[in-house]
Amino acid sequence: MADKVYALPNVQSPSTPVIFNPEKCIGCNTCVEVCQIDVYIPNPEKGKPPIILHPEECWYCGCCVTDCPTPGAIKFNYPLPLKPRWRNKETGEVMQVK
Ligand code: SF4
Ligand code: SF4
Repeated sequence: MADKVYALPNVQSPSTPVIFNPEKCIGCNTCVEVCQIDVYIPNPEKGKPPIILHPEECWYCGCCVTDCPTPGAIKFNYPLPLKPRWRNKETGEVMQVK
């Protein structure tokens, strides 16, 4: 009889270091393989984006995003302190790094 393995995402940390686009992600799991600290695990459903299991461990090295072979499938979601906001002097418009 095969052993069952359970993987429980960390519900203590609501942070999401990256955002997958399920329309573009092909589920190749390159991002899973290049992440040296195992933030992700493969999705049990083939062709679907990986599961972010330990978001709090991400240190934004960028490997998963730069090695993804599918443009637009994954993008960074920088934490708030890394998203500076400023106001346009002339228009008053508030801008923020996306
Ligand atoms: S490397 Fe890109 S296409 Fe492959 S699973 Fe990750 S996000 Fe999806
Ligand atoms: S940015 Fe680096 S540490 Fe964070 S999930 Fe991607 S590969 Fe892993």
